[in-house]
Amino acid sequence: MSIARFWRESPRRYNLGGSQCAVCSTVYFPPRSVCPSCAHHRHSIGKMEPFQLSGDGEVVTFSVIHDAAEGFEMQVPYVLAIVRTTEGPMLTGQVVDVAPGEVDIGLKVRATFRKLREEGRAGVIHYGYKFAPMDEWHVGPRRSKDPEPAPVPREPARA
Ligand SMILES: [Zn+2]
Repeated sequence: MSIARFWRESPRRYNLGGSQCAVCSTVYFPPRSVCPSCAHHRHSIGKMEPFQLSGDGEVVTFSVIHDAAEGFEMQVPYVLAIVRTTEGPMLTGQVVDVAPGEVDIGLKVRATFRKLREEGRAGVIHYGYKFAPMDEWHVGPRRSKDPEPAPVPREPARA
């Protein structure tokens, strides 16, 4: 199966495989072979288990990047955020599918696999995770900043 087809058919698949300490339940990403949270690290040796992060999280801090690194010129300005995943580990990644001005601390995001960059004539494409606002997954792309319509008040029940 081609990579493009793989991701098209599995839009939520990404490689966020971390590890979890079976002793204290702390989750790590990238995975670790010993647990620094356990008082005695050796207790965790051999007890680190693979753990797949959900990719869901919340923006903790972010910056708007105006000077792009080579290969990212097309994407300026973009938002680079630190996201605290629901499982605990902090991830750094680009926030996409939202105007930079709309990103804020506390924004609920979800990891999504995207093309990171394409390299020169060889056309080597790198994929990795980026974060998209969680709203996108439920109600589609936001097209305006219009507030939600007010709910229609219900008629009081008559006896
Ligand atoms: Zn531990």
